[in-house]
Amino acid sequence: MGRRTDSWKQKVHPLFIEGTAAYRDAVRTWQALGPQPPVERIAQIESRLEKDLEAVRVRYSNAQYTPTTNDPLNLILVDVGVTSWPPSQREMDQGFLELLYWKRFKEPLWIALQKANAGDLDALRRVNRVGEDFQKFKFGKGPVKAAKGDPDHGALLDLGLDLGLSALNPEELADCFDCVCPCGRIHDADALKKQRSRKQKALKMATNWLIAERAKMSTREWMAAYGMYGLQAKGVPAVGEIGRRVYVGKVGQLPWWHVDEQGRLFSHSEFDEESVAKELPYAFAVSTLRELFDMFFLSDAGQQDANNNRQTKNGMSS
Ligand SMILES: [Zn+2]
Repeated sequence: MGRRTDSWKQKVHPLFIEGTAAYRDAVRTWQALGPQPPVERIAQIESRLEKDLEAVRVRYSNAQYTPTTNDPLNLILVDVGVTSWPPSQREMDQGFLELLYWKRFKEPLWIALQKANAGDLDALRRVNRVGEDFQKFKFGKGPVKAAKGDPDHGALLDLGLDLGLSALNPEELADCFDCVCPCGRIHDADALKKQRSRKQKALKMATNWLIAERAKMSTREWMAAYGMYGLQAKGVPAVGEIGRRVYVGKVGQLPWWHVDEQGRLFSHSEFDEESVAKELPYAFAVSTLRELFDMFFLSDAGQQDANNNRQTKNGMSS
């Protein structure tokens, strides 16, 4: 007893605390819909939440902050944030399906689709199963198999692992959840710690898969990547004198920066180059600008790295 300290507050970003307020609002609106809510309403609530979270992120986008890990949502969702308001049916369906798949199988849907396209029949079955669940849910044909673990806790971890939750000790994690979680219960430090490490393991697996496989994808297959803050990156092949580049900017706008083959950043905007160069990789779940470049171009060095990573991993698991 006598736990209850506020030391977690110094370790998490205020963005997370504001984000959990938006999350609690969404949960309350959801609960007010009753036991069999129409899927359109739920998709609307989730889109609204994404939009609210995006607004909080934009407000803090100039704050100096080093993320404690990669942003989980950036890895799970193909497109973070809706492009228009109200969001299109396609955007709502896609976001809903991606979260449904992630909660159930602890794997990003886009990775499962890549695996299925490469002939992995188990991945294909998983995708089909969640597709069926989605249809059932959409047409009110019975309940969907629940994900393991408390859904609120899973959602809060997805939201905040990169914003400090990964740096809290188990007691601080429980104190934090006592304050911000909409479930209203007193939280068990050990159970939360276990759920956090399951989540971190799943994210690590997805990241490893991305590192190992992206070098094998051709530039054409991997033309655009979507990051945090509504950022998009795009690989552009060499044209005449101008070498291969990766352009980065807001979707539908002129690019703000480009990264060259050496991983150097060039600015086309008034953003402070030094802090952008430091933070930009995180927005795309990589650790250096050179890695961002390698996402788009199959380079000898990149291929070598991917092979080494695979060997290390195989060596460790055997
Ligand atoms: Zn809770």
